[in-house]
Amino acid sequence: MRTKFFVRLAALLLAPITAFAAQIFVVPGDPPGQGFNDPTPAVPVGGNPGTTVGQQALNVFQRAADIWGSKLQSTQPITVIAFFTPLNCTATSGVLGAAGAYWSIANVAGVNGGKNLPANTWHAIALAEKITRVNIDPDPAEPFEIFALFNNRLGQPGCLTGSGWYYGLDNAEPGSSIDLLAVVLHEFGHGLGFSVGPTSGNTGARSAGFPSVWEQFMLDVSTGKRWIDMTNAERAASARNDGNLVWAGQKASNVVPSVLDFRIEMDVVRPTGIPSTEVVAASFGPTFGNAPGQRVGGNLAIALDGGVSSIDGCTAITNPAAVAGRIALIDRGTCGFTVKVKNAQDAGAAAVLIANNVPTGLPGMGGTDPAIVIPSFGISQATGAALRAAGSGVYVELSRNPNNRAGTTAGLPRLYAPNPFQSGSSVSHWDTSATRNLLMEPAINGNLTKSVKNPEDLTRALFMDIGW
Ligand SMILES: [Zn+2]
Repeated sequence: MRTKFFVRLAALLLAPITAFAAQIFVVPGDPPGQGFNDPTPAVPVGGNPGTTVGQQALNVFQRAADIWGSKLQSTQPITVIAFFTPLNCTATSGVLGAAGAYWSIANVAGVNGGKNLPANTWHAIALAEKITRVNIDPDPAEPFEIFALFNNRLGQPGCLTGSGWYYGLDNAEPGSSIDLLAVVLHEFGHGLGFSVGPTSGNTGARSAGFPSVWEQFMLDVSTGKRWIDMTNAERAASARNDGNLVWAGQKASNVVPSVLDFRIEMDVVRPTGIPSTEVVAASFGPTFGNAPGQRVGGNLAIALDGGVSSIDGCTAITNPAAVAGRIALIDRGTCGFTVKVKNAQDAGAAAVLIANNVPTGLPGMGGTDPAIVIPSFGISQATGAALRAAGSGVYVELSRNPNNRAGTTAGLPRLYAPNPFQSGSSVSHWDTSATRNLLMEPAINGNLTKSVKNPEDLTRALFMDIGW
């Protein structure tokens, strides 16, 4: 991601303006005939009246700008320069979009009732302009607050083959399509300040020695230290301390109970000796109700299939007699979560557990498939291994813990901190264990509401913590 850094020492004078909803403008950066300028005829879809692909894309961006603008206040307009361009992609995974603050800013004095920026602390320029009420303009040739890139190969062969953007505004994307509005809202979130940048999450190094405004709120519950008080090496270690890096801002933690569900935990009733663990429910399939009494229990069956790996559930299940009526255990990897769960469902499984294929964290369990009618859950790699080693006669029960919220540690919402570090995803997102699913998780979920605030989302509350 491209980020520029600018230290400004003097303030400009502006006429007084009172606070109002932030105005966000989108500047299409594409050349003629492409992206926003794509003249390909399109049928209006899902409340989007555009009659060309380019018009529909622009309508989606304007809706995202309006949603964010109505939930934030600033006297200064926010300009987004946006492009459709090829981004990294394979047939089964890909970068949908990327965005960031066009500039990071420190040490600007407020005018007209605006406040000074906290000393020697980097802020995304849109946030810096909100706080100071200054139209900070480091380079008149580039009068932008946010840059944003979106993948124009989506759905082509080799790039999440067969998917493609959904341009509707109504949350009704078909199973194979990606909801552009959700992705644009997410990317605008980064550009507005949902990022630890310019501090490097990977190395912990700071730009020009200044912390970013995020660091005072980033707490490592293992060490009890906040990022602002850490060395580079400590920050780099904390960025990989899965489950223990949390957001300790007051505004976000206040709304956790109104946003996040009670945590789902799995008890192994038989055999004894396997500890209770946190699991995560899939974003597809039936909703696992949030009432504490909610429960799924049953005998476990190891599902086998005929693929390269016989335990990844990517092809038809070959032992349906063993799986029918039971909770099927399948490994993560090779194909999407919905493919595995659908295969198990077709074999008669009552529910599915998907064991992670990396040592840290829980599987994200994202995806969409309206044909799935059984519940499914992600479990850790270690728990999956313990269940496989336990042999036959395993009985598990999954239920809500009324004392814990999903996606939190010590009551505070987790930031995404897998080990190994994932460039572009680690640290500057909420953790994938959060449910309800959050806009600023690293991978898109099909059940996002397009709300950026509580009780549907934690993102605006985090923004209030950093000064929005
Ligand atoms: Zn992101």
